[in-house]
Amino acid sequence: MANIKITFPDGAVKEFAAGVTTEDIAKSISVSLAKKSVAGKLNGLLIDLKQPIEADGAIEIVTKDSQEGMEVFWNTAAMVLGNALSQVYPDMHFGVDAATEHGFYLDTNRVAGQVSEGDFEKISKKMEEIIKANEPIERLVLSKEEALRLVGDDQYRQELINDQAGEGDQVVVYLQGKFVDVSRNVKLAEPKVIKCFQLLSVAGAYWLGSDENDMLQRVYGTAFYKQKDLDAELARQKEAHDRDHRVLGNDLDLFFVDPEVGNGLPYWMPNGSTIRRTIERYIVDKEVADGYEHVYTPVLANVDLYKQSGHWDHYREDMFPPMDMGDGELLEIRPMNCPSHIQIYKHHKRSYRELPLRLAELGMMHRYEKSGALTGLSRVREMTLNDGHSFVSPDQIQEEFKKIIRLMVEVYEDFDIKDYRLRLSYRDPENTEKYFDDDEMWEKSQRMLKGAMDDLGLEYFEAEGEAAFYGPKLDVQTKTALGGEETLSTIQLDFLLPQRFDLKYIGDDGEEHRPVMIHRGIISTMERFTAYITEMYKGAFPTWLAPHQVKVIPVKNELHYDYAKEIANSLSAHQVRISVDDRNEKMGYKIRQAQVNKIPYTLVVGDQEVADGTVSVRRYGEDNTTTMTKDEFRNLLFADIESYSRN
Ligand code: ATP
Ligand code: ZN
Repeated sequence: MANIKITFPDGAVKEFAAGVTTEDIAKSISVSLAKKSVAGKLNGLLIDLKQPIEADGAIEIVTKDSQEGMEVFWNTAAMVLGNALSQVYPDMHFGVDAATEHGFYLDTNRVAGQVSEGDFEKISKKMEEIIKANEPIERLVLSKEEALRLVGDDQYRQELINDQAGEGDQVVVYLQGKFVDVSRNVKLAEPKVIKCFQLLSVAGAYWLGSDENDMLQRVYGTAFYKQKDLDAELARQKEAHDRDHRVLGNDLDLFFVDPEVGNGLPYWMPNGSTIRRTIERYIVDKEVADGYEHVYTPVLANVDLYKQSGHWDHYREDMFPPMDMGDGELLEIRPMNCPSHIQIYKHHKRSYRELPLRLAELGMMHRYEKSGALTGLSRVREMTLNDGHSFVSPDQIQEEFKKIIRLMVEVYEDFDIKDYRLRLSYRDPENTEKYFDDDEMWEKSQRMLKGAMDDLGLEYFEAEGEAAFYGPKLDVQTKTALGGEETLSTIQLDFLLPQRFDLKYIGDDGEEHRPVMIHRGIISTMERFTAYITEMYKGAFPTWLAPHQVKVIPVKNELHYDYAKEIANSLSAHQVRISVDDRNEKMGYKIRQAQVNKIPYTLVVGDQEVADGTVSVRRYGEDNTTTMTKDEFRNLLFADIESYSRN
């Protein structure tokens, strides 16, 4: 048999007989490597451990402790799940299956009712049987006709087969017993390595991701080699769930979205509104102190405004369609506030002495986000952006950019935001639909932003295709509880809109010049920012932001209510958000409730406190109480509120 040359990651080259497998290669290196290996990566593509290699190539051994190794493991578990389901429900049809970052899923469909979480026990039993019997999993390369014969009348797998075969006639499937998985996902040959698994949830998923297709039922699960790893994963999921702002938003009564009334259109309950109002006042004051002038502008404008700005050509997908007023007027609900601030700039003749001119607004805007992308408060269709535009002369760009970054850093410190990455977002030069077509403008502005970042000595990464249609930007990327990445703050350089709106200022030479715009959102939208900090604080807001800051609990309503009320009145006169829990409930219950609602301070007042003019103070999350005078408590509370910090 002919020999082939296999290159290893360190550059070493070895000869093997053609038809050698990754397993053989691993064994030739060491027994321990062979034991750990779960797949190969030939010329960058994953292959099964037992798949013959027929030609020269570069190999990497994928071991079980790597992320890719785990994905091979999870693909195997998904196969076992499919096999079990096909035995429990012989009429079941199957869509796609895949490994995720932390487990696997499989799409299913049945005419006679869907799988539900109530069925997990019997499905899991069947999976255990299959794993115990160690029914081998085999990779087959079949002709299209053979593959089609194996899947019978399952229209989804038929479509997957046709899709894989394309113009050709070869299809890769995996077979375990009678179950056929139409997928190229690499798997392990022996399922017995799946020592522990758990089915987690079911959720609807459209066939091929399109809402014009059938809705299938996606079954999620996870699996591990060791129980302790499964336990750790379940704990991680519980933590993510407990942190999820949608869960906390409901538990703490912050906001709701009712798809019947309007998908992506949130209602802010009094508690959420208090948090939002506090953030809004904070940022407006901060910006005014930093040289911004706050304005109010309408959410509606003639559609021509957005034609002139370029939104109509480059951003229309994300815009609500215009409203036809019947008299020839078309009104557009704005997707961005920039054209509005440009109107304010243009309303007066501007001089170089006014620059940088900084206009800001808590600007409400609407974007027609895809329904599948809508998430609680973090991606919505109506939002209010902490928007600001600096109009600067070209030689002020760098200094203004730095000033904005300094403001951002201060705000992040006040909110205790530490976990973020800076991303420089460029255009994708191939995509002329999405990005304004002017190579020179792009080159220049991208260079300028990069230069400023390097000057500031900040760490960042670069991403092509993430810019706004009018220019490059610096984005602050943060993580959500569920692990997704999102943009919080953004600073964007723009040479285009000033040109489109023919913006001018009179320079010190008495001539007209073109300003440059810097768009920036520090706090992002009120919606996304509130979602973010809710998850970051896990609902335990620092005192200055907490919807309810202090709860006073009389030991006995009939004896101590008046004293409790007097304390509440004296503090609420200073804008403290304080109330007395005078319900006819046991004291212990009331204290627990205050903890469940994550109220920063609980004061308990009884005979002793009334007699001494004191309060018993208990901080959220602590078990001990401290007795102090009313004045001492007041000083402590005021200092806490002013510190912004999370104690
Ligand atoms: P994304 O890429 O997240 O869609 P974008 O780049 O279109 O955002 P910008 O036009 O820069 O967003 O909007 C400014 C900021 O508003 C974003 O950085 C983000 O924090 C926030 N934001 C954007 N879209 C939404 C939305 N649908 N819901 C909530 N906040 C949003
Ligand atoms: Zn803007």
